[in-house]
Amino acid sequence: MMADKDSPKKPIVNNSNNKNKKKKKRGGAKRRMTHEQTVAYKSVSEWVFLENQSNSSSNSVSFDDGFLDDFGVQWYQPKEKLVFEFHSHTTCSDGFLSPTKLVERAHRNGVKVLALTDHDTMSGIPEAMEAAHRFGIKIIPGVEISTIFYSRGDSGPEEPVHILAYYSSCGPTKYAVLEKFLEAIRNGRFLRAKNIVSKLQKLKLPVKWENVAKIAGKGVAPGRLHIARAMLEAGHVENLKQAFARYLYDGGPAYSTGSEPVAEETVKLIRETGGVAVLAHPWALKNPAAIVRRLKDAGLHGMEAYRSDGKLSVYSDLADAHDLLKLGGSDYHGRGGQHESDVGSTSLPVLVVHEFLKVARPIWCNAIREIMENYMKDPSDSNLQHIVKFGKFKLSKSISPSGSASKLINRCLLLWLSEEEREDAEFETIKSELTKVLEAGAESK
Ligand SMILES: [Zn+2]
Ligand SMILES: [Zn+2]
Repeated sequence: MMADKDSPKKPIVNNSNNKNKKKKKRGGAKRRMTHEQTVAYKSVSEWVFLENQSNSSSNSVSFDDGFLDDFGVQWYQPKEKLVFEFHSHTTCSDGFLSPTKLVERAHRNGVKVLALTDHDTMSGIPEAMEAAHRFGIKIIPGVEISTIFYSRGDSGPEEPVHILAYYSSCGPTKYAVLEKFLEAIRNGRFLRAKNIVSKLQKLKLPVKWENVAKIAGKGVAPGRLHIARAMLEAGHVENLKQAFARYLYDGGPAYSTGSEPVAEETVKLIRETGGVAVLAHPWALKNPAAIVRRLKDAGLHGMEAYRSDGKLSVYSDLADAHDLLKLGGSDYHGRGGQHESDVGSTSLPVLVVHEFLKVARPIWCNAIREIMENYMKDPSDSNLQHIVKFGKFKLSKSISPSGSASKLINRCLLLWLSEEEREDAEFETIKSELTKVLEAGAESK
């Protein structure tokens, strides 16, 4: 979200479950995991380190080094902390770091799984994946979609709502459909940015369109943050926050809507394309209860309830009331301000990540299966690109020798699916069919 919304309306942070026993901090002693947490940790880390496990067993996380503590309770000492970052931006939308730089920074901060969720575009994913491959971290291809919620169906007072979508390593099942949907939003953003600039002109706060476009970067749909930066450069405001607080806020004197889709339709589309739909920063909404209720009816999977400053009980309760997953992330933009939450700074309990993966993994597994089936029906190069579209660097190296076709598929799958998921009979059939098709294709070249 944008700079103006960083401070919550209801900054109620609590320590969640009061039923949890008091967590005494004994000097240096580590907190014991409950049985539930141990199971969750094991399951989550197996998924996080899938690739390592298949490459060499020595690299994998070992669960045999659990030990008995003073109380005779066995617990596991994780070799590595499992830091997940579920919300981040790059220069492909309004972030300040390139996908590579973002991945580098995430890695430095100990992030093991990074969801890249640029506004209305997935164009940063291939570069992020390539960088992530070097650091041995996992990228969840994501996108934060700008939508509009109409309080009465498609009319009445409206409110902008951001919805996060999380996809498998192969991306959305109907990539072209989603891309068209996102492109319409991006085009709308250009128009909207132009409207804002002309409103600023009328307010005697002129900014040059060329500046806005330059700040946004080549091919990037300009957002309010880019305009705020242009205002700052032109000396109209003292800082970005002021630009939002005075002029650019929702409904503000220079505000303009774009051509965002209806929130409920967006949730449905995310589901239809093999994604997990999560409502972003509900604390920025005027009317969260009604929005959550209606989006849940449309098929929403979860909502953000965690931030870098902890869990917000109001939204956690709202999620529970609607049986929604709870998630959260830093919403890192790389602005570098002292108040910005760093990438990887949101600490999500392992149980929360486990619940998310329990819902997400079957969805992703089905999506991958669907993408492969589509390729079998039409084994064109463009459909092959769909399977490995976020890993072109791997494709170019391994596609030429015919024998490596199956390796290529395997490599895509190993990243994402467990042995159990891959050994599913249906998958086996698809895989062997696909290997034949690929090898035939490679030989005929
Ligand atoms: Zn965001
Ligand atoms: Zn947002």
